[in-house]
Amino acid sequence: MGALLEGHFRLTSGLHSPGYLQCALVLQHPREAERCGALLAERVRGLGPQAVLSPALGGIVIGHEVARALGVRAIFAERHEGKLTLRRGFTIAPGERVLVVEDVVTTGGSTRETIEVARAAGAAVLGAAAIIDRSGGNQGLDVPFEALATVSLPTYAPESCPLCASGIPVVKPGSRA
Ligand SMILES: [Zn+2]
Repeated sequence: MGALLEGHFRLTSGLHSPGYLQCALVLQHPREAERCGALLAERVRGLGPQAVLSPALGGIVIGHEVARALGVRAIFAERHEGKLTLRRGFTIAPGERVLVVEDVVTTGGSTRETIEVARAAGAAVLGAAAIIDRSGGNQGLDVPFEALATVSLPTYAPESCPLCASGIPVVKPGSRA
């Protein structure tokens, strides 16, 4: 579906990469989004989640579809003054069993931050799930993690990025890509 883009990208994590997975290009098709959600839901159903929490914006559509397949509600956390926060009247009950759902996990940073939002509200975070795991096994999560596919794409610190060294302009995906 053209979701795997090639070029020189600055990822959300700050790392640079010659590859970027623009999951929105898959999720724009509701039938494919629903199918990804159903496949992911099968892998986590046994955890018994009562709610799905996703980070905005990337996690919202897939979180909604996983929640649809599980028959639970879908809420999201969004950045407010630099910090992921529950807004719009979303609440999590103390002890509620929450699953965190993302589109792509690279460093695991935004997934960990979303887990912290749930825990701060008193939730029991059962696990995390993503369409794509491009962490190379280094997502550093302290909960069970499931992904539909594992993709290996190199990432570089900006100061040691060979694409920067060869003068190729870096693009922030989501703006133009
Ligand atoms: Zn670079």
